[in-house]
Amino acid sequence: MNEAFFRLGIFLILFALLGLAETFYPRRPLRVGKSQRWGSNLGLLVIDVLAQRLTLGAIVFAAALLAEKEGWGLFHLLDWPFAIEALITLLVLDAAIYLQHVATHKVPLLWRLHRVHHTDLDVDLSTGFRFHPVEILLSALYKAGIVLALGADPMIVLIYEAALSAFSLFTHANLAIPPRWDRHLRYLICTPDMHRRHHSIDQPETDSNYGNILSLWDRLGRSYFEAPRLGQDGVVLGLAEEQDAARLALGQLLLLPFTAGRQPR
Ligand SMILES: [Zn+2]
Ligand SMILES: [Zn+2]
Repeated sequence: MNEAFFRLGIFLILFALLGLAETFYPRRPLRVGKSQRWGSNLGLLVIDVLAQRLTLGAIVFAAALLAEKEGWGLFHLLDWPFAIEALITLLVLDAAIYLQHVATHKVPLLWRLHRVHHTDLDVDLSTGFRFHPVEILLSALYKAGIVLALGADPMIVLIYEAALSAFSLFTHANLAIPPRWDRHLRYLICTPDMHRRHHSIDQPETDSNYGNILSLWDRLGRSYFEAPRLGQDGVVLGLAEEQDAARLALGQLLLLPFTAGRQPR
C-alpha cells in the first residue's frame, strides 16, 4: 500500500472520530473558539505536509527502505527475531521523540520553533498539528537518522509514524474521558488530561508531561505530573507573552521564530 495513503487514511478517520467526540463530549469550554484558531492550525497542517512532501519526501520511511536495501544499521548486524526488533524500534523511536520534545523546550533555538505549538490559546484536536514547518522538517531528519542507525523495518517505521500522528491528535483533543478510564490509560499512554498541563501558561507546568505515546518516559525522566495546579478547568493555556488571539494568524505564526525582539525563554 502506498505510504502516503496509509498515513492520510489513518489521519482522516481519527480526525473525524475525535472531531465528533470532542464536539459532543468537550472537556472544557473553548476560550477563543474554533473558527479563529482552526484556520491557522489547518493552514500549518497543509504547509507542513507540503513542506515534507516537496522537500524531504517521506524521509523517515525512505530511510527505512534504504537501510533495508543496503543492509545498514544495528539490526542487520544482530539479526534478532523480527518481533524483538519491532518492539525495540517502537520503544527507541518513542523515547527519542520524548527527548526531542524536551530539547525543543531547553535549547533556545529549538524553542523559537516549538513555541508556535504553545501559542494556541485553547488546546483541541487541531493543536495536534499546529507545528512550525521547520520544526517538522528537523524532526523528520532526526527520526530518519535513528531509523538508519537501527536499520529499522519499513513497515514498523510506518506504523510508528502513523501512531505518532494519531497520538498527537488524541493527546490534544478537548475530550472528556471519564476520570477512572483516564487513570488507567495513563499507566501506559499519554492522555489529553495529562498533556493539557504541558500547555499551561505557567512555565514550570509547561516543563512537564512531554510524552507523546507512552507515559513511561515522563515517569522515568521525572517529568510526569498528575494535573495542573489550578485543575483541568482552571488552567490557563498558551504562552504568557502571547495572549492576543488577533496576533496569532497563520502568517504571524510562520514568522514567529524569526521575529526580532521576542526572546526565547
Ligand atoms: Zn512542548
Ligand atoms: Zn502539545
